[in-house]
Amino acid sequence: MKQILIVEDEPNMRLGLKDNLEFEGYQVKLANDGKQGLEEIVNNQFDLVLLDVMLPELSGFDVCKIARERGVATPIILLTAKGEEIDKVLGLELGADDYITKPFGLRELLARIKAVLRRGPDKKGSPSEATIGRMKVNFNSYMANIDEEPVKMSHKEFEILKYLWEHRNDTVSRYQLLEDIWGYHEQPTTRTVDNFILKLRQKVEKNPEDPQIILTVHGIGYKMLAARD
Ligand code: CA
Repeated sequence: MKQILIVEDEPNMRLGLKDNLEFEGYQVKLANDGKQGLEEIVNNQFDLVLLDVMLPELSGFDVCKIARERGVATPIILLTAKGEEIDKVLGLELGADDYITKPFGLRELLARIKAVLRRGPDKKGSPSEATIGRMKVNFNSYMANIDEEPVKMSHKEFEILKYLWEHRNDTVSRYQLLEDIWGYHEQPTTRTVDNFILKLRQKVEKNPEDPQIILTVHGIGYKMLAARD
């Protein structure tokens, strides 16, 4: 699960962003001012930081500059206000990866986040596209189709499918899935995992009753069968 830090001093903005990003399947941490934000960035490994520019204590520019000077490579998207156009250039020079101008739409923000995560440092070696059974999947754009027809899948389903694909031909235990997909802060049961697997099978398998791709390993978990590429 991708972890995002939001550094934003306006409470409504901060909580609104948090709710929306969590709904999209991200794990979110919050910081209320520049100083606190810098501490979080330096001491933790986030996949992405949303950093407001106008902040108390330290500005977003300062945070960005100091973080880069300390060798932090975490992707940063600056949140700038209208009229701060000139500042954007400065922000990028100081090491931000992108910026978005307030007020912005959620879809635009999500697109920027995905784009920055896609080229983020931890993406190396991750698969972007795969053919799984009858389904073609693009893990970067979160798109899947069967016979050219788009398939509706939740973020979680994508995450699980990707995880199984990355561990293809290996047995993955239910607990491994719980830990790596859901994380410690959520407490789903192994039953939840099984339900997601059933849903995935209905999409991937020719005959979900007789799975040939996502196999059950009794008493342990699941194994995705795929040709080694
Ligand atoms: Ca602000």
